[in-house]
Amino acid sequence: MDTELLNTLKEALKKEKLLLEQELSSIAAKDPKVAGDWDSKHPRVPEGNEEEAADEVEEYEERTLIEQTLETRLKEVAAALARIANNTYGACEKCGAQIQKERLVAVPSARTCEHCMTS
Ligand SMILES: [Zn+2]
Repeated sequence: MDTELLNTLKEALKKEKLLLEQELSSIAAKDPKVAGDWDSKHPRVPEGNEEEAADEVEEYEERTLIEQTLETRLKEVAAALARIANNTYGACEKCGAQIQKERLVAVPSARTCEHCMTS
């Protein structure tokens, strides 16, 4: 892979990582005990108002789902950056072939080539 493309993808990944971290920090608190793990912030549950409390629980569940999605993406992006750092980036995890350039440009955190993705 040419260095210029690699640098472009690296910058894209770094930017995505920052964005994901920003989004996560707005809905979740970083777990101080586990690196890379986030916990959804607990919404306050008002006393004596069951309807509102149910809404809060629903909101919390929704937030947890979003948090998990963001966390998974963040892990993918971090893993891709780690692969760049140890020069294994761009190789398909399943067959070892070089992942198509177009696919990496579209999805810089891709782990598999198009063939393995669809098979
Ligand atoms: Zn493959």
